[in-house]
Amino acid sequence: MMAGVIRRLDETVVNRIAAGEVIQRPANAVKEMIENCLDAKSTNIQVTVKDGGLKLLQIQDNGTGIRREDMEIVCERFTTSKLQTFEDLSAIATYGFRGEALASISHVAHVTITTKTADAKCAYRGTYSDGKLKGPPKPCAGNQGTQILIAQAYLILLIICCAQAEDLFYNVSTRRKALKSPSDEYSRIVEVVSRYAIHNSGKSFSVKKQGETVADVRTLPNASVVDNIRGVFGNAVSRELIEVGCEDQKLAFKLKGYISNANYSVKKCIMVLFINHRLVESSALKKAVETVYAAYLPKNTHPFLYLSLEIAPQNVDVNVHPTKHEVHFLHEDSVIESVQKHIEGKLLGSNSSRTYFTQTLLPGLSVCGAGEVKSSSGASESAERVYAHQLVRTDCRSQKLDAFLQPKEKPLPQPEPAVPSGADSEPQTVEPDDVDMLEALDQMEAELHESEKERSEEVHDVQRKRPRKEQEVEEEAQEEDLTAAATPKRRVIKLNSIKELRGEISDNTHKGLQEMLQNHSFVGCVNPQWTLIQHHTKLYLLNTTTLSQELFYQILIYDFGNFGVLRLSTPAPIYELAMLALDSEESGWTEEDGPKEGLAQYIVDFLKKKAEMLEDYFSMEIDQEGNLRGLPLLLDKYTPVMEGLPMFILRLATEVNWDSEKDCFRDFSKECSAFYSIRKQYILEAEPGDVQDEELNSWRWNVEHVLCKAFRSLISPPKHMSEDGTVLQIANLPDLYKVFERC
Ligand code: ADP
Ligand code: MG
Repeated sequence: MMAGVIRRLDETVVNRIAAGEVIQRPANAVKEMIENCLDAKSTNIQVTVKDGGLKLLQIQDNGTGIRREDMEIVCERFTTSKLQTFEDLSAIATYGFRGEALASISHVAHVTITTKTADAKCAYRGTYSDGKLKGPPKPCAGNQGTQILIAQAYLILLIICCAQAEDLFYNVSTRRKALKSPSDEYSRIVEVVSRYAIHNSGKSFSVKKQGETVADVRTLPNASVVDNIRGVFGNAVSRELIEVGCEDQKLAFKLKGYISNANYSVKKCIMVLFINHRLVESSALKKAVETVYAAYLPKNTHPFLYLSLEIAPQNVDVNVHPTKHEVHFLHEDSVIESVQKHIEGKLLGSNSSRTYFTQTLLPGLSVCGAGEVKSSSGASESAERVYAHQLVRTDCRSQKLDAFLQPKEKPLPQPEPAVPSGADSEPQTVEPDDVDMLEALDQMEAELHESEKERSEEVHDVQRKRPRKEQEVEEEAQEEDLTAAATPKRRVIKLNSIKELRGEISDNTHKGLQEMLQNHSFVGCVNPQWTLIQHHTKLYLLNTTTLSQELFYQILIYDFGNFGVLRLSTPAPIYELAMLALDSEESGWTEEDGPKEGLAQYIVDFLKKKAEMLEDYFSMEIDQEGNLRGLPLLLDKYTPVMEGLPMFILRLATEVNWDSEKDCFRDFSKECSAFYSIRKQYILEAEPGDVQDEELNSWRWNVEHVLCKAFRSLISPPKHMSEDGTVLQIANLPDLYKVFERC
């Protein structure tokens, strides 16, 4: 192949290509022109657009104007009235300083400038192309200020096409793609004008299409920032704004602005960001801010923010390329973090009904406060008038969260009436919680086996026979016969280790929390991890995972040696389960641990050795072939999600201290309860209201009808749960009413 001949490009081609780099699209030109108007101290800026600026752009201001003698060179490259020496750059107070914008525009379009300074007798008009004034400026009538008319801006398109034809720039095709339809370009122009309008309250702006009498955006000189936000983005957002503002001497920045509160959200985040009064983008800041809002706004919705950051000029690169909107500055991370904190604080303070973000202590519940809290029935008995905001939900069947979701095609399973403990019910088939179960577990339909009917009955009995205190006293103080009379055939456990573990639970009970759980009303499942309940006039979020794990742990300790069996319809080979677990990322298996097959076989042999004890105490059945046949029945109608089974098996071999009796029972119960708890990583969540797959939703049913019921009667919540975020107060009804009144 022949080498290409290198030629010098014609000067106008060079200039046009260079200009195309600066002014990529009409909205860039508008931004540059608006900045010139503001530099010229204008208070009224009007933009008129034809064909999205591809045909015509006109920017009219009432600023200082351009002196007649400067009109000759105003469109030449590197001519400016704003900068003389290089040192001036460090203290630049104007938008422009490089004298490039007008020159660039005049290379890609016809520019006509009509301008009048305060002391000139009349206005002058000059036309420019390729940076040169064509003929002497003509005197004409006109008010003080400048009007810049940019015609046939579509030349931009032309150069791009030429460049493409000659294959000059690799990125040209991307740029051409970026130039879209006139209506697209117009909305970009409107966006630029309206954002500068918001930032420059006190000055009036307007933008309209040529020939239209009504402007698409118009702001008034005496309007406030919020007025302007209302004018541009509408009433809905302007009503929900919080003013923000802070200053940091050390990081040398100042923040001002308005952000939407937690009551407002949009599909796409709107962040109007000015840094040193220049409209810019910062994806890092946007991301940081969005993470704060994520805790407050519904899933997939976003906030509105108008932020004006002033950063010490020496910390921002002022010499940034005119088309570079994405900015970076010194100490960016620290500044962003500081802004993030400030916004978080403002959001928290703005609405007392949303204080759950940091508040983990429960103010309404004192540690020994069971007696202090009035019961719900007490309130209704009172002769005083009860206002709506004092009403307490007393029936868990009253309006729930689900009622606000889309109508469902099929109803979820209704709670079954309580089966009397002696009833001889059919064996229940327990459906796995998830259709997408791992292959090896596919046929493993667990059955609620009634082969050991008596034992199951005992379990029912025991569950109804709480409070445990008495039961314990009975067990400790009396002989077997007496206890047996109370609950037939219940084995009395005399192991000190179990007694100690029970003692630890009861000594560590938070009475206030217990009272709350006993008398709560179910409101709804937010997701597998969080459940909303009401107690008196307060709404709480319960961490379903932690609470259900604690519940199952306590059941395992209290009903130790007395469980029914949840028999698997097909025995599950422990070897396969262990292999599945080792294959999963969660296991953390590395080659250093040795081959998986060997480990899996070790687990089978090990658990087989423990089979007798596991069956006796925990009703966990493992046969001599190394198959898992049964699991403890901890709660009537409850089966754990089987996806968790492989990890449970693996962890039995790795996380349980089998050498000490007490540790062993505790560790086993901890692992087993984790497996039984509601864990979101094992639950595929259906969209709310979408019940195509009932199985996907069965966890909801379980939480409402099985777990919450058990929270009322079976759990002794440990003290740490009042402050570790397991139970969070999110709203107080009287406060909520105050919020609604504002709306
Ligand atoms: P820069 O803004 O970097 O100085 P421009 O090419 O944008 O470069 O403008 C060149 C010069 O033209 C400015 O320095 C200013 O003196 C003058 N000018 C441009 N627009 C206006 C305007 N709307 N009002 C008054 N002077 C203007
Ligand atoms: Mg400029």
